[in-house]
Amino acid sequence: MPPSTTKPAAGLAALAATALCACSHAPKGPNVLLISIDSLRADHLSCYGYPRATTPAIDRIASEGMLFEQHMSSSSWTLPGHASLFTGLPDSIHGAFDTGHKLPDAAHTLAERFQAAGYATQGFFAGPYLHPAFGFAQGFDSYLDCASYASELDASAMQDPQQNKELNQKSHSDITNPTVYSAWQKWLAGRGEKPFFTFLHLWDVHFDYIPPAPFDKQFDPDYQGSVTGRNFFSDPSINASMPERDKQHVISLYDGEIAWTDSFVQKIREDLERAGLLENTILVITSDHGEELFDHGGKGHRMTLYDEVIHIPLVVRYPASLPKGARIHAQTASLDVLPTLLELAGLPAPTDVLGTSLAPFAHDPAAAHPRRAVSELASVGRNMRTVRSLEYKLYDDVARDAHYYFDLAQDPLEKSGLTDFETELGQRAVAGYTTEVQRMEAFLNAHPPQAQESVIPEGVRGQLEHFGYTEGESKQPAKAPPPK
Ligand SMILES: [Zn+2]
Repeated sequence: MPPSTTKPAAGLAALAATALCACSHAPKGPNVLLISIDSLRADHLSCYGYPRATTPAIDRIASEGMLFEQHMSSSSWTLPGHASLFTGLPDSIHGAFDTGHKLPDAAHTLAERFQAAGYATQGFFAGPYLHPAFGFAQGFDSYLDCASYASELDASAMQDPQQNKELNQKSHSDITNPTVYSAWQKWLAGRGEKPFFTFLHLWDVHFDYIPPAPFDKQFDPDYQGSVTGRNFFSDPSINASMPERDKQHVISLYDGEIAWTDSFVQKIREDLERAGLLENTILVITSDHGEELFDHGGKGHRMTLYDEVIHIPLVVRYPASLPKGARIHAQTASLDVLPTLLELAGLPAPTDVLGTSLAPFAHDPAAAHPRRAVSELASVGRNMRTVRSLEYKLYDDVARDAHYYFDLAQDPLEKSGLTDFETELGQRAVAGYTTEVQRMEAFLNAHPPQAQESVIPEGVRGQLEHFGYTEGESKQPAKAPPPK
């Protein structure tokens, strides 16, 4: 969708384009290649400490750039995770937090910002929730659906519950990396003179786990059982109580999908190198959410906000501005990617986002940053929000009227929820939660929602009083944490 001419931020973007165009008609900023690998949990990449060599290509890119160790998604599923990546806003502000909601036309996306600055903008996607029906095509000169069932998709199909269900099932068995890759190669060969902002969505790590040979046997060549990675989510026999050997095989197939996808990252890197573009391209590898592999008794994603589903990788390579091999331990969030890319590209800092640029970490590990990440899930009957720092993670589980936090230093796997908010850590967790919600409220006051979708879901707002934030009757957190 074309950007609205009435957007307040269009002036900023135009100013940026003017600055870049001082010497010629084409802007001279660096290229940006943003790769989102769907469903990729950070702790299954070798550069994030996983013992298996799942990601040699990403490891190398990380060793030549910056890796953010504690990077969190805004949510635990595809639609809101990407909407936050594209807008620098949390789910309850950008509004695309559930099926039936979309990024409003008034959203000011990464692609729109680069397009307004004179960039060529292309997107290639391969999963149903990246469809233009959800507002993701805004700002792209071209936005190509690389799914095998693309011809069956239109906006009505995405919004019809039955068709939506059927398409989702088809998407799970789809193999799309080769299609995305050949579309990228074709585009790269015919690109023009302008710098580019290109988005590649690599879908295949998303269940089902059906990597092609040799990746299907790479991490578990001796398995003799009958369990496969097909129908991972819908098959009830694949569960936390299944035999351990079979469970490990399923996880090996997930890892095989990661290795298969990493092999495409290597090809893409080689393409950039061959075209002489690698050094002048800001290369970003990230994800939209992680994946639960029975960590808390469940599987898949879009069910909880535990770390296995919100902790995602962020690796950025841009030798002109970023150090080699830097690892940043600060708490960061997917909202931060948009302002980071604008700063690295020399464009003006955005005033209409809640993310904070990570570029200062290149020179200063103590750079100013909120050091908290907000994640939300308001879908499939869930209505919850977490605020995470390096020391705590507080859950406001509105749907279950439960409030608890984890001491991440003592309990990094989030096994024992705490409800005593009178402790020093409990008080800090509540203070951090309150600060983040106040930031969101202040943002909404300064930037009133321009679409019906862009409001804090009812219930989330009402529950803020549990922490004494609103003027309503104060309630003490009372419910026990989940037993898992
Ligand atoms: Zn996803």
